[in-house]
Amino acid sequence: MSDFNTAFAHLKPTPKMPALFVGHGNPMNAIEDNSYSRAWRNIGDNLPTPSAILCVSAHWMTRGTTLVNVKQHPETIHDFGGFPAELYAQQYPAPGAPDFAKATIDLVRSSHLEPDEEWGLDHGAWSVLLKMFPKADLPVYQLSLDLTKSPAAHFELARELKALREKGVLVIGSGNMVHNLRALNPGAKPYDWAEAFDAAMAQALEARNFKAIVEAPALGRITQLAHPTLEHFLPLIYAVGVADEKDKLATFNASFDMASISMRSFMLS
Ligand code: ZN
Repeated sequence: MSDFNTAFAHLKPTPKMPALFVGHGNPMNAIEDNSYSRAWRNIGDNLPTPSAILCVSAHWMTRGTTLVNVKQHPETIHDFGGFPAELYAQQYPAPGAPDFAKATIDLVRSSHLEPDEEWGLDHGAWSVLLKMFPKADLPVYQLSLDLTKSPAAHFELARELKALREKGVLVIGSGNMVHNLRALNPGAKPYDWAEAFDAAMAQALEARNFKAIVEAPALGRITQLAHPTLEHFLPLIYAVGVADEKDKLATFNASFDMASISMRSFMLS
């Protein structure tokens, strides 16, 4: 374990990288040219080049442990069903980032992080990165969501990850601001509860009131409808957890897909 204990100290300082939250939505966005995927491309074209990308995706869920992928060559995981063959044929052959992953394990004290060699890149990560960084030449690693942790504990962990932004790491939370698959209604206007939850989050972001976001699961009925399960919400806590109250907010893709998915995304820099 000795390389883990000094790994963070070995990372080179860089100008501070932005923090991103990306609403990934439908996996088809990975191969479709639409307003969402064009915004992802645009972000990638305009960001300073990161040394590594840490993606906290809704689609890597663990229970009772937080894993960090330390693989040198993470494979592309097609973790969805019922989509066209073209989507299953997609590969995102980015290198892993074992040095950054070990540094992350070294850095975090509020939780015990474990190295993982099983996971690759799930679609919460690669569907976005395929558009954002199409060359797949930047090292990428993921951190899992421990579903047994409270939102406050996720925020505490994310707070510790903030130091990575000054080591060239682009932290991306990939989920959705509102995500209710049972209520999907293509072509329909967003539900009142969907708009209300989305607006509450937008307002909290505008005010940099990160506490209001962390405490959103306590909002009751409206959260139950916006997030019947919390895995697409929790990456949002990571994006604001690594942010500073004085960071500038830039919002993109602020619209609904199929009435119950908010694609609202933002950069704090
Ligand atoms: Zn998803």
